[in-house]
Amino acid sequence: MIGRILLATVCATFALAQTPAELLNQPAMRAAVDALKRNESSLLELQAKVCEIPAPPFHEDARGRELERLFMEAGLKDVRIDRAGNVLGVRPGKAARPNLVFAAHLDTVFPEGTNVKVTRDNGVMKGPGIGDDCRGLAVMLGVIRALDEGHVETPGTITFVADVGEEGLGDLRGMKQLFGETLKGQIDKFVSVDGTGLGITNTGVGSNRYRVTFKGPGGHSYGSFGMANPIQAMGRAIAKIDAFEVPSQPKTTFNVGRVGGGTSVNAIPFEAWMEVDMRSPDPGALKALDTKFHAALHDAVEEENRRWNNRGAVSVSAELVGIRPAGQTPKDTAIVQTAIAVSRALGIDEALREGSTDANVPMNLGIPAITISGGGIGAGAHSLNESFDIRESWRGTERALLLAVALAR
Ligand SMILES: [Zn+2]
Repeated sequence: MIGRILLATVCATFALAQTPAELLNQPAMRAAVDALKRNESSLLELQAKVCEIPAPPFHEDARGRELERLFMEAGLKDVRIDRAGNVLGVRPGKAARPNLVFAAHLDTVFPEGTNVKVTRDNGVMKGPGIGDDCRGLAVMLGVIRALDEGHVETPGTITFVADVGEEGLGDLRGMKQLFGETLKGQIDKFVSVDGTGLGITNTGVGSNRYRVTFKGPGGHSYGSFGMANPIQAMGRAIAKIDAFEVPSQPKTTFNVGRVGGGTSVNAIPFEAWMEVDMRSPDPGALKALDTKFHAALHDAVEEENRRWNNRGAVSVSAELVGIRPAGQTPKDTAIVQTAIAVSRALGIDEALREGSTDANVPMNLGIPAITISGGGIGAGAHSLNESFDIRESWRGTERALLLAVALAR
C-alpha cells in the first residue's frame, strides 16, 4: 500500500515536472497532434458553418444551441446551458481538480440582419466574426477532437465553455455569470481563445463607460436669456475631462466619444448628453480616474449654475452603461510561464499583450487567467470585411492543445 502511494506520488511529481517538449513526445500527445493536423481542414469548414449562424449581442442562443450539439457529439459530459446562455461541457480528468476552464466567445459585434455568409478565396475566408471569435470556437472544438482521437488522459479536468456577452455592451456578462454563480469557486485556471494570430494576453484592460445627461428647464434663446444651459454645462465638463492628467504606465485613458442634445439653434436646450469611456489595466488607476470624472461633472454643473445665478438650474446624472473589470496575471505566475514555455516549444515567441477579453473577469478575481489567440492571420476584426487567412492555422490549434494538456494538471 505504501509502495503504491509512493509510486502514485512519484508519478504525480513526474507529471508536474514534465516540460512541454516532453509532453509532446508522449505517444498519446503525438497521436493527438497528428489528428489535429489531419482535421484542420474540416475544422475550418466547421469554423465557417458556426460563423454562418448569427450571434448578435444578447442573441447568441442559436449559435449556443449548435455548440451544445457539437459538445454532445464530441462526447463531453454534463453538457448544459447556464442562466446567462453560456454552453458548458466537461472532459473529466483523473481528478475533478484542478479544473481548467477553456473558453471562446459566441457573440459578435454585428447587429441582427447582418449578412453572415462566409466566402473563401484563395485560402482567405471572409465573413463577419470569422476570426473574432469563430476561430476561437473552432480551436476549442479542434482541441476536444484531438484529445479524444489521441486518447489523451489529463490529471485534472477541462471544462469547455462557449460563452456569451464578451463584446461591447455585453459587458462580459457570460464570464460574470460563470465565475459568480455557475462555476463559482470551482475554477482553478482559465484560458480563453480569442481572435487570430499567436499572441498571449496577460493584462486585462478594464473600462468604465458612462452615458451622462445634463438637464434644465430650457427656453427661448432670446426671451429666456440668462438661464443655465445644459449644453454649455456639458462643455465645461468636457473641458475639465480634457485636462485630466493620467499615468502612461499603467496606460490609463479617457475619451468623450459621442455627444448630443438640444432642439434648435434658437432654443436654450432642456437636455444634453455624452458618452464617455475610461480605461486602465490597473483597478486603482481606473478608480482614481472615475472619481475625478464624477468631480468634474459636479463642478461643471456648479460653475454653470453660479454663472447664471441659479436661474433655471442645470442638473446632471451619470449612468454606468458598461463596466469591464481590470486585472493582470503577472508574468512570473505558473500559467503565464507555462504559456510561454508551450509557445517556445512550438517555435512561437511573442511578447505578452494587453487586451480586454473574457479573462478580465478571472484576472480581477485573482484566478490565474490568460487569453491566447487562435492562429491564422486575421484582418478587419469588428468590420464587415473581416477575414481569416488559413495559412498554418493548425499551429494555433496545436498551441491551444498543448497548453490545455500542460495546464490540466
Ligand atoms: Zn473577441
